[in-house]
Amino acid sequence: MTLLPERPDADKLFGVYIHWPFCAQKCPYCDFNSHVRFGGWDEPRFLKAYLRELDDVKARVGRREVYSIFFGGGTPSLMQPKTVAAILDHIAKLWPIQPGAEITLEANPNSVEAERFAGYRAAGVNRVSIGVQSLRDDELKRLGRLHSVAEARTAIDIARRTFDRFTFDLIYARPGQTLDAWRTELTEALAMGSDHLSLYQLTIEPDTPFAELHARGKLIIPDADAALDLYALTQDMTAAAGLPAYEISNHARPGQESRHNLLYWRYGAYAGIGPGAHGRLVLPDGTRIAMATECNPERWAERVQTTGHGFTDETPLTREEQADEMLLMGLRLTEGIDLDAMARRFGFAPAAAEIANLEKMGLIEILAHEPHDPDIIRACVGPGISPTAITPYAPRHPIIRAVGQGRFVLNELVRRLSLKTEPVAAPINTSATLRT
Ligand code: SF4
Repeated sequence: MTLLPERPDADKLFGVYIHWPFCAQKCPYCDFNSHVRFGGWDEPRFLKAYLRELDDVKARVGRREVYSIFFGGGTPSLMQPKTVAAILDHIAKLWPIQPGAEITLEANPNSVEAERFAGYRAAGVNRVSIGVQSLRDDELKRLGRLHSVAEARTAIDIARRTFDRFTFDLIYARPGQTLDAWRTELTEALAMGSDHLSLYQLTIEPDTPFAELHARGKLIIPDADAALDLYALTQDMTAAAGLPAYEISNHARPGQESRHNLLYWRYGAYAGIGPGAHGRLVLPDGTRIAMATECNPERWAERVQTTGHGFTDETPLTREEQADEMLLMGLRLTEGIDLDAMARRFGFAPAAAEIANLEKMGLIEILAHEPHDPDIIRACVGPGISPTAITPYAPRHPIIRAVGQGRFVLNELVRRLSLKTEPVAAPINTSATLRT
């Protein structure tokens, strides 16, 4: 199994996601909340709104320690570095930021944007995620991208020199793409020296120009079998290169996984700030709330100006809803989801019979818990306290992960796992619990 960075107590994780909604052009496959404003935008006005919405979240959640920050979009590399700096300074005024916290900014590899990298670094960004998407110029045109392969390579060189860590995205399973063509392109990508890669299959999202072309038969993507072969090739090649998958589409050298994305998949809490952002806040009384903001950038800014925040949805989640979300997120991970941790958190876990069923169908795999190390128990319990003085905790539920076709039908897996659950039989002694 991939060795991930420490698996901290998910309840204690708190991340901040900042959504920058503007792009230079709308890509024809994209269904993100991204908007083009040929006349530009009032950046100081948006900055004020970001700071105000952050204040609002602070008033709700109180003291937290920030584990990671992520500027996503849209195209955050269209932001002025001083805007990024002001947002990071404000976050640091509101909450302590963990030493070494991961601070990522998504960037497009256009030359103008790459020139801003040093400014982002000075602002506090320590990781950049570059939307390369393809290493073929004709494919970039087909995907509606504004940059060239040469610009992407230059941006990666600048990123390597500027940031502690960088990653880039590629889209595969593109129209007409053969296994050989993808093998060659991925070989080139793996030679570019990144310790992390996000490799996404092209999917046809509703209400996009690609969806219309697809419906008219003008855009044909690889069928399910061909896509599965491309996926298998991707897994094999990245693993052989030392960047195995740690999530369905994400690959990293062990220890270089995206901490912010792990926070989502391990079901930590995070604030979603900016137009169209989603968040999961945990209030001081333990209530977990699904938050979403107004999608239209100008309406969002207006709303923040008048009410102090742009939230349009604030829904407290039941334990059952949280358990479903936790399953959906955790099943994406190669490390799997620890159903014992889930049982301790919610008081119930998926029924053993259904887990066995899904395992028999080849959709999930059951993983063993790591044996407890007495030295770690001693460290957790306290200096001078003998681990023999406590009852070693024996996990009652397994760790499971999606495998084979199961990775592509996560919603169905969650539906089946939540149909029948078993309550935790007796209160569990968590005094010796090492990790969740
Ligand atoms: S740059 Fe990214 S967010 Fe913007 S339209 Fe293209 S894919 Fe969507």
